Amino acid sequence: MARMPGATWRPVPNFRKGGQEEVRGLVVHIMAGTLMGTDSWFRNPASEASSHWGTGRAGELYQWVDTADRAWAQGNGNRTWLSSENEGRGGQALTEQQLDRNAEIFAWVHQTYDNVPLRRAAGPDDRGLGWHGMGGKAWGNHPDCPGPKIVAQLDEIVRRAAAIVGKKPAPGGSTGGSKPSTSTPTPARYKVTINGLPYGYGAVGDHVTRVGKALVAKGFGKHYAHGPSPTWSDADTRNYADYQKSLGLTGKAADGIPGEASLKKLLGTLPGKAPAAPANEPFPGAAFFSPGRRSPIITAMGRRLVAEGCSAYAQGPGPHFTSSDRQSYAKWQRKLGYSGTDANGIPGKTSWDRLRVPKQL
Ligand SMILES: [Zn+2]
Repeated sequence: MARMPGATWRPVPNFRKGGQEEVRGLVVHIMAGTLMGTDSWFRNPASEASSHWGTGRAGELYQWVDTADRAWAQGNGNRTWLSSENEGRGGQALTEQQLDRNAEIFAWVHQTYDNVPLRRAAGPDDRGLGWHGMGGKAWGNHPDCPGPKIVAQLDEIVRRAAAIVGKKPAPGGSTGGSKPSTSTPTPARYKVTINGLPYGYGAVGDHVTRVGKALVAKGFGKHYAHGPSPTWSDADTRNYADYQKSLGLTGKAADGIPGEASLKKLLGTLPGKAPAAPANEPFPGAAFFSPGRRSPIITAMGRRLVAEGCSAYAQGPGPHFTSSDRQSYAKWQRKLGYSGTDANGIPGKTSWDRLRVPKQL
């Protein structure tokens, strides 16, 4: 079982249990689509596709498959390589945030598995950071995945990963490449919650960037390779520890994990949790809406239809999918401009997403 701290765990059904026979490194892909589109694609058993991780262009980081299990991303390379899919179109470069996320993944893979050197892999028989097209036909023949701009960014991912683990990149070209024994000790890696927000290794949010920027402003930014980011890394912990020591704190009180007093002193105030926008229920698929289906999602849908002025309900709405639901939904489809069979009262993804049905837990 290996799940990466800091990645949002979103398990999908597409993988072979216990099928990761070896880890030679990480293979970078491009989704040719959106993070959420890929997320639902990997949830569809018919796609027979998945990857271990996925990044969004704004810096989201998902883990879909445990690294003990084999994801289905690169043909014959699946048994021996882990995989990261990246939101974007073919030909695009990764965003700064995606470079950071891939560096964090690669750093974690390097630290979690033996013999994954911090360098680009020369090919499928090598080790390190690879890309889908390098596997040729045996890896499904995807020479354009992830595309030349991203292949040109792989060295930068290696550099950032090396900075995260506090090592120099390994020299390229050789095979093997065992880990150097001279690593700096890992700083504290636990999280605390202060005023409802998480701090410490793996914590994610704008408030993490805010702490980083405040540390830099006070002169405690020397451990950042590329400046503060929304994911709390060891560099954040090291910088925060320097700041704590400057306050006269020692021992565990200066381990780099914020306490309430030092945080308030750094920021002048304690950030609090902003009320989250209510999440919407993801489209459950057209087949979900069969006659007699019973679900709180149906009730929630009906309430939204009523709120949109699309009620054909004599009573209700209720949890069973009835002809009244269907007639109401057809009104909604017509309101959106659909006609004919596109307004048949069976929800489709576009009209569903626009209805914004609150998420049912
Ligand atoms: Zn690919």
